[in-house]
Amino acid sequence: MVEFKDVSVTYSSGVDALNGINLKIKDGDFAFVVGSSGAGKSTLIKLILKEIDATEGTVLVNGFNLSKLRRGKVPALRRTIGVVFQDFRLIPTMTVYENVAFVLRVIDAPAKYIRSRVPYVISLVGLEDKAKSYPTELSGGEQQRVALARALVNDPKLIIADEPTGNIDPALSYEIVDLLRSINECGTTVLMVTHEHDLVRYFGGRIININKGEIAFDEVIGGTNRNESK
Ligand code: ADP
Repeated sequence: MVEFKDVSVTYSSGVDALNGINLKIKDGDFAFVVGSSGAGKSTLIKLILKEIDATEGTVLVNGFNLSKLRRGKVPALRRTIGVVFQDFRLIPTMTVYENVAFVLRVIDAPAKYIRSRVPYVISLVGLEDKAKSYPTELSGGEQQRVALARALVNDPKLIIADEPTGNIDPALSYEIVDLLRSINECGTTVLMVTHEHDLVRYFGGRIININKGEIAFDEVIGGTNRNESK
């Protein structure tokens, strides 16, 4: 669960990036975060990952109170979160399998677990035929699927997707959101930052709109895709 209570962030430059944010994202929710450039979306994500601290207010993430969390506990917080970036951030010298397995190797997961878990998440994102390929041999949409498999491999409670469709073909963007939705249906909370209004309108669901550091609205809308709208 993610909860913001009266959260404000003022950068050292004096910019008020977020102003009195109150927000609750319950376990199992799927929410889009939208807003124009400079609205405060990245600041919100950085707070959740404890890359920055709130100037005022309380941020609770997956049972951690971030204002009280000591530095040494930050890795434990981050292991509960999988992050997908706009620019994929895959390691070009590693195959798809290795890119995903790497996440588990750095936390010393048992080899047997890695051998069963990695193929499983690669199949979840539909890339079983590409496990031995290198990132440069894949399309943008496929690379983003690898990034998603990597974010999922550690079985996080929360997936943060930061403009995940920003670098891929618009037609494939729908597939990425479909995939995020099916991951959400299996119980993982998903927070997706996007400025693609067409996607949001199509899928519908909870939309958190940030404007000038404040929540302009936080509502559930029906999608234009009837099968998807709830
Ligand atoms: P968004 O992700 O919605 O584009 P940001 O959260 O990046 O918005 O930025 C919100 C505001 O904070 C903007 O005015 C931006 O210029 C400012 N800002 C972002 N990061 C920093 C920083 N490290 N130092 C100072 N100001 C920043």
